[in-house]
Amino acid sequence: MKELDIGIIGGGIGGLSAALALQRTGFRPVVLEQAPVLAEVGAGISLSPTAAHALNHLGLAETLQTQAYHPEDQCVRHYRDGRPLSWINRGRSLVEKYGERYYLIHRADLHDALAAAVRNNDAKAVELDRRCVDLTQDSTGVTVHFADGSSRRFDAMIGADGSRSAVRHQIFGALEPQYTGYIAWRGLVPMERVPPEILDPPSGVIIGPGHLVNRYPVRGGELLNFVAFAERKAWVEEGWSIRSTVEELLDEFSDWTPLVRRFMELVPPHLLFKWGLFDREPLATWTRGRVTLLGDAAHPILPFLGHGAVLAIEDAVVLARAFAASDRVEEAFERYENARRERAAFVVIQSRNAARMFHAPDTETYHERTQGKAADEGIGLFSYNPVTQPI
Ligand SMILES: Cc1cc2nc3c(=O)[nH]c(=O)nc-3n(C[C@H](O)[C@H](O)[C@H](O)COP(=O)(O)OP(=O)(O)OC[C@H]3O[C@@H](n4cnc5c(N)ncnc54)[C@H](O)[C@@H]3O)c2cc1C
Repeated sequence: MKELDIGIIGGGIGGLSAALALQRTGFRPVVLEQAPVLAEVGAGISLSPTAAHALNHLGLAETLQTQAYHPEDQCVRHYRDGRPLSWINRGRSLVEKYGERYYLIHRADLHDALAAAVRNNDAKAVELDRRCVDLTQDSTGVTVHFADGSSRRFDAMIGADGSRSAVRHQIFGALEPQYTGYIAWRGLVPMERVPPEILDPPSGVIIGPGHLVNRYPVRGGELLNFVAFAERKAWVEEGWSIRSTVEELLDEFSDWTPLVRRFMELVPPHLLFKWGLFDREPLATWTRGRVTLLGDAAHPILPFLGHGAVLAIEDAVVLARAFAASDRVEEAFERYENARRERAAFVVIQSRNAARMFHAPDTETYHERTQGKAADEGIGLFSYNPVTQPI
């Protein structure tokens, strides 16, 4: 098995995590990324204790310790007057219960650390300008065809090419994600512009009817990252990086507390983007023959529990463990799917429920509705460990 040629389409957080996990179990995978340079969008990302277990296992403990923000107490506040509705602990109490805490990190910092680790293990492990346009397979292998007309054969293929996955399209046909009725803005504000009194505590969410704002420091406290959600009946623009304006954002949050509007006013226009949110019903299977899916390609998800990258990183560790425990590619994929499909489907469905809970019209009753529990921990999401999950 260790001699297998394994291809990974997509060099996002999922694909690079899979490459690193496979390398650490003795395989030599190749990541085939469409972009001419490896890069991530400028935005923050939350990492639960389960992702932390996975990243520690992949040798990235130092990245979490030195590059991530470590929130302790987070507050859920009311949109009108900013009064606290609920407090949750993301540090000590999680370490006691789950052996790890919650982290907040700039996506590019995590992506860079993953890419450096993968290339350090194998300088040729990442190939750029490799856009997959077609896949064919038979009983002995998979041939991937690229946009430049070239092709290459592998023993096994992992589609980690995001929510609009070409690999998924090739093996399961047209199963496009659907617009969910939610849109989001993301912004980064240089911290020296942000009045410290509006950051109490530095990480937290503010909720109101049909809206949610999540904000926290990244890059060692140099930047304040925020994501602001709203609802729209229709959405036609494609992509993650559609420009917006501060005026448009402030209009949407016109009756919100200055605790929110003040940092929105300060976002430099070139660091403000908007996009529509998509997900899809969970797939019954992720695998066909020698091709499987991982991360958003397998389970595009709403971001209301901050679990898309978490699931991709968990997938990666479990997939590599499944390869290490198997004698055949088909067996590895079966073990992987069996250990992952139910959890991923649960989180996709729960992320929709979380959207409704945060956006509910009766903001005042949030604490009673959630019984004071965190949206993710309260439904048991942290009681999973990809490093020890039976495969
Ligand atoms: C607003 C928002 C906030 C979020 N916050 C969080 C959070 O706090 N915590 C969290 O865990 N998750 C969060 N997520 C979700 C998370 O960003 C995604 O789930 C995660 O990035 C998925 O990683 P991936 O590697 O599967 O896919 P992607 O990051 O989409 O990477 C796919 C890669 O494949 C490449 N590719 C695509 N097509 C091809 C092709 N045909 N050939 C070759 N390469 C190709 C792309 O260029 C890209 O590099 C958030 C998402 C959103 C929208």
